[in-house]
Amino acid sequence: MSIGRPVISGKAFAAPAPGKSTPGKTRTCPHCKATILDSASICPACQHHLRFDPAVAAEQRAAATFAPLKVEGVLRHPAEGEPWEYTVVLAIRNERGEEVTRQVLGVGALQKSEQRSFSLSVEVTAPPGTVFPKP
Ligand SMILES: [Zn+2]
Repeated sequence: MSIGRPVISGKAFAAPAPGKSTPGKTRTCPHCKATILDSASICPACQHHLRFDPAVAAEQRAAATFAPLKVEGVLRHPAEGEPWEYTVVLAIRNERGEEVTRQVLGVGALQKSEQRSFSLSVEVTAPPGTVFPKP
């Protein structure tokens, strides 16, 4: 048994509109090879434009979006002492606390007085008119 698209049969479901993709469907960015949403018109990794379909662009402008999470932080090495090493880990869990994804996004070292800043954002896109719950 494979995990894939839900089976759509009969007339219970309307055919998807042209240019509209299945929620959660992914593809590979032709520029940077990142795995991104099929619905993205701009790659969030390399920020290249991916499609110029005016209908899709209008639909995306109308779509409701919000960013439930945006975190930034700075790590600064003091002027004295041995170098530090750091590892950036991202874990995504489902409603039962089970890990869906765990990735090491970056590693590196900080010499005296060096710093790195880190930012994480989660962006959500929903059909036009969607009202999101208040945080
Ligand atoms: Zn890309």
